[in-house]
Amino acid sequence: KLHNQVQELKGNIRVFCRVRPTLSEEADDRAKIAFPDSEADCKEVAIQTEQKSAMGTVTTANNAFAFDRVFGPRSQNGEVFEEISQLVQSALDGYNVCIFCYGQTGSGKTYTMSSLDGMIPRAVNQIYETAKSLEEKGWTYKMEGSFIEVYNEMLNDLLGKAEDWEKKKHEIRHDPAKGKTTVTGVATVELDSPGRVTSILEKASRNRSVAATMANSRSSRSHSVFILKLTGENSITGERSEGTLNLVDLAGSERLSHSGATGDRMKETQHINKSLSCLGDVIGALGQGKDGGHVPYRNSKLTYLLQYSLGGNSKTLMFVMISPLQAHLSETITSLKFATKVH
Ligand code: ADP
Ligand code: MG
Repeated sequence: KLHNQVQELKGNIRVFCRVRPTLSEEADDRAKIAFPDSEADCKEVAIQTEQKSAMGTVTTANNAFAFDRVFGPRSQNGEVFEEISQLVQSALDGYNVCIFCYGQTGSGKTYTMSSLDGMIPRAVNQIYETAKSLEEKGWTYKMEGSFIEVYNEMLNDLLGKAEDWEKKKHEIRHDPAKGKTTVTGVATVELDSPGRVTSILEKASRNRSVAATMANSRSSRSHSVFILKLTGENSITGERSEGTLNLVDLAGSERLSHSGATGDRMKETQHINKSLSCLGDVIGALGQGKDGGHVPYRNSKLTYLLQYSLGGNSKTLMFVMISPLQAHLSETITSLKFATKVH
């Protein structure tokens, strides 16, 4: 039984699934692997994937889950990027685009999104190249990047100084008339050369590890949002375009029980659970065409921040990241079910 039916043009929301490979330190113990790394291992595995032109499926013992695209464990970041490059490109045409990575800690979100080989630097490089090629047609683009962490429903500037985070508060300001969002006091970096993105990623990662001494394993307990604003002007035709590309590495989705956790840990847990379920609610509502009606953007900081990039004629892509390990199977199924909610 298929849990969710992929329907073409169901709003502007697409859902992809990627299973990471087993890592060398895990590979010794084949019994723990739920997903085959090679054809030879295909007997009695717990998860299988299949991609048939327009639809991918992930099958576990009892259920099948449909996606727009499924990437197996041998997929490379380059081929994953190929599938999103048009979406990235549309930000240059003036669309607002959101791409999320959802999944439990260790499922490959950061590897896919924010590593030096991931979607963030690839997207920036492609946009940079395309903008350059559009110069001869009269276009000049300004590319401004900011990088924000959402932790405990508070915003931190990943391009600022982690030491200042405690005392520096940022607010989300919406301008409904212009459909624009600004976050007060965060740094924006002009991406005037493609190499700039590397230093942005390194700075953000350094800031997160400084902050990790304040709160354990920070990056799996917070969301990071890379925001690229693209403003174009055509000197020949006088046309203008304004688009935004938001690339989001979400907090780990593993079910964290409230029991046992106390104090700060409990607060973190509640904020993560709430903001991920709110994201599911918002995308689910948009997918059902409820754009004109009530969409609960205000229920979390993340959805409020991205409000103008989620509704209207914006485009959204969700990556559901899964682990190949038997030990993670129940979390994997929970993640796959999340896709049912948003698709
Ligand atoms: P998450 O951000 O979801 O917690 P990571 O991206 O940090 O997970 O991935 C966990 C580990 O798996 C890291 O060591 C990462 O390098 C590795 N990994 C994840 N996806 C892949 C992949 N597609 N190919 C190779 N290694 C991967
Ligand atoms: Mg991560």
